Amino acid sequence: MKAEIIAVGTELLLGQIVNTNAQFLSQELAALGIDVYFQTVVGDNSNRIRAAIETARQRADLLVFTGGLGPTQDDLTKDALAAYLNRGMTIHGPSMEQIEELFSSRGIHMVESNKRQANTIDGAVPLFNEAGLAVGNGISAEGTHYLLLPGPPKEMKPMMEGPGREWLRSSVLGEETPLYSRLLKFAGIGESSLEAKLLHLIEGQTDPTIAPYAKEGEVAIRVSTKATSEADAVRKIDETVERINEIVGEHLYSHKDIPLEEAVVALLRETRRKLASAESASGGLLAELITNVPGSSGEFAGGVVTYTNEMKHKLLGIPMSQLEGEGAPGAVSESTAAMMAERVRDLADSDFGVSITGVAGPAESEGKPVGLVYFAIAEKGKPTSVHTTHLSGSRSIIRVRAVKAVLYRLWQALND
Ligand code: ATP
Repeated sequence: MKAEIIAVGTELLLGQIVNTNAQFLSQELAALGIDVYFQTVVGDNSNRIRAAIETARQRADLLVFTGGLGPTQDDLTKDALAAYLNRGMTIHGPSMEQIEELFSSRGIHMVESNKRQANTIDGAVPLFNEAGLAVGNGISAEGTHYLLLPGPPKEMKPMMEGPGREWLRSSVLGEETPLYSRLLKFAGIGESSLEAKLLHLIEGQTDPTIAPYAKEGEVAIRVSTKATSEADAVRKIDETVERINEIVGEHLYSHKDIPLEEAVVALLRETRRKLASAESASGGLLAELITNVPGSSGEFAGGVVTYTNEMKHKLLGIPMSQLEGEGAPGAVSESTAAMMAERVRDLADSDFGVSITGVAGPAESEGKPVGLVYFAIAEKGKPTSVHTTHLSGSRSIIRVRAVKAVLYRLWQALND
């Protein structure tokens, strides 16, 4: 099954928004075993949408649209596809009720054009929009399948994950052998090193297949297989995961698509321990990621951002003679990293204190190069471990990589 994603919206062509929907949809379709060969972007223009449909039909069996389902005159996707297929459109009753209810509950007069959002192309399966008003459509005609999704990501994602996926499974993939997959998440290793270590497996393996992909600071591998039963799929995937585990198990932190900080919080919870942080170069990013994990207040006591030397001194009690002056180790040093982690741990009376101090750039500091980052993990009753890393990338990438490096070491410490 070959698919093409068609993102509709002039804002995309003008560079006002980034086509994040295409990225999300490509991943979703890959997980269903559908190959995406092309991604197209087209403006809000009927003729050009029609041209995009004509081109895509020649090279794909499934066309997945996002955008252009809204109420305004420049929302043209359904109209253009209905015209192309020579079909009419009817109002989908439940969606219309949902729109009317929303307007009456807010006491707002409904403008007629809002009804357009309940339109469904004749013969299409309406796809409920749980986060908005425009109904999606799934339709098959003359050997091609069309899936129409809204543009706003907060509407598009739940529709794709819910009724969209369901429609693809039941009406498009139908008889095809279902694809099963498992996502493995890794940390503390780059995508290319991971791939190099697993290359013999990746190259020699046709079923299950092993596909790596990366996000900043984390790497994932999807192990997929087509199988006639779930039990058969689980057995095949388990065997492959076991072989991967033997080679790079020390970096494998989850068999689910969760961020590293969530795995760390889960381990803190399991081992009933608390964490506190003292950050300099990362400016609070570590605390931000940890507190993004729901319920982390049980595991995260708190954090301080001590950006200047004065704050490192005042809040954490680090002597000024340690931080500056002739012969002082400086703020960016192993010993300062260790002190920051130990002091914040004691201040918060927690089990772990972690710290990050370094040079995020763009300019060097204290004569130390951009990307040099020290971080420390101070566990109660154990010697503090300090780590030195030389990170590359822009200021924001260095900060993310530094935080992920700390989280990885913390995850290791919690596993010990
Ligand atoms: P609406 O009811 O909001 O009009 P719609 O289905 O007609 O929804 P559009 O009008 O095309 O969608 O886009 C609405 C908003 O959704 C855009 O302004 C943008 O913020 C977001 N959006 C649209 N397409 C994309 C995309 N491909 N990637 C990321 N965001 C998008």
